[in-house]
Amino acid sequence: MEKLIIIKYGELTTKKENINLFIRTLKHNIEQKLVNYSIKIIYDKGRMFIKGLEKDLNLIINELQEVFGIHEIIIGYGLDTLELEKIEEVLLDLLKIKKFTTFKVETKRSNKKIPLTSVEISQKVGSFLLKKLTNINVDIHHPELLIHLELRNNESYIYFEKIKGLGGYPVGTLGKGILMLSGGIDSPVAGYMAIKRGVKIEALYFESPPHTSEEAKNKVISLAKILSKYNNEIKLHIINFTEIQEAIYKNIPHEYLITIMRRMMYRITEIIANKRNAKIIINGESIGQVASQTLTSMKAINEVVKIPVIRPLACFDKLEIIDLSKKIKAYETSILPFEDCCTIFVPDHPVINPDIKLCQEYESLIPYNELIFKAIKNHEIISLKSQEKPKYQDIL
Ligand code: ATP
Ligand code: MG
Repeated sequence: MEKLIIIKYGELTTKKENINLFIRTLKHNIEQKLVNYSIKIIYDKGRMFIKGLEKDLNLIINELQEVFGIHEIIIGYGLDTLELEKIEEVLLDLLKIKKFTTFKVETKRSNKKIPLTSVEISQKVGSFLLKKLTNINVDIHHPELLIHLELRNNESYIYFEKIKGLGGYPVGTLGKGILMLSGGIDSPVAGYMAIKRGVKIEALYFESPPHTSEEAKNKVISLAKILSKYNNEIKLHIINFTEIQEAIYKNIPHEYLITIMRRMMYRITEIIANKRNAKIIINGESIGQVASQTLTSMKAINEVVKIPVIRPLACFDKLEIIDLSKKIKAYETSILPFEDCCTIFVPDHPVINPDIKLCQEYESLIPYNELIFKAIKNHEIISLKSQEKPKYQDIL
């Protein structure tokens, strides 16, 4: 008998045409996540089995609870036999340390050559337990202990507990996206939601030193690290936005500062996305949250890019976003009080219905293509893994 973890894929199994890619990617992601453990993974179209657990079981379960594409995590026992007598013997042994008064046996039998049906197997094993153990009864509706048996090709599995996984799709199966990551509450949550749908994220942060501090940058690095737990690792692109921001501030009517600033951010993000072969931009915008997120503002800002912009939080209330932020343990970091480049240059009366023609007119007052080129040329990339110190890397 061997103690092992059984992974159930859940939603993956509905993706018939891509199933092999999905399962291979999930296996790769789990291997990356468990790189510090000497485990072995085997799989078929219905299940994945993690062997070689030894004493690290709880740590491994914690790690697996951060992997998308896993529907259920099951701690089980594997037997190299389909003989019911042997299975019963092992089961009896396992039950010695369990306290229960009612139970139910549930059997799944993927090997149809076995002469007994699933129900017959459950009944047979149930009667065996009633004979061998005292003070227990069967309760098919509300058993204290649910005993699962699975009989497959040449092997069988016994398990009792199922732990809920994160669901979603394995990261990377849907391609890559660039997340506009600020130090706020919204964008890390937006990133988490995109990762959940299988999008591998690279993050992009606009800093404006000396108007924004080193602490603000470190805060974004911490948030990216939190996201890296779900993304295997994360590349964080840092763009120095100071010159662009100052040029906007000096030359453009202040009610349009934010609109134009965000148009510049979108332009830069699209260029980085294309260079990194990312198919979408993701950000934390939410309809109506601030002046730059009215529908007219969104239209005026979105107008400068062709790439799809995905806004996972578009229709969420702030309180719902805060709940998610707490759930992914980003909230405490997000609320640290360091100035973001947007908050410093916020005008008293930002336009809520910006006119696209006026945006274009104002933008013609600054040599923005040149400034964008320069900002991208000098940009910095940090590779982050949740357990490691940041690695600095050369530009594109
Ligand atoms: P908050 O949670 O306080 O709303 P926020 O980061 O969402 O913070 P917004 O002004 O609402 O602030 O910005 C909308 C979105 O634009 C952000 O969610 C983020 O995706 C992107 N963004 C804003 N500032 C930056 C920045 N400095 N670098 C990268 N992306 C940014
Ligand atoms: Mg916001």
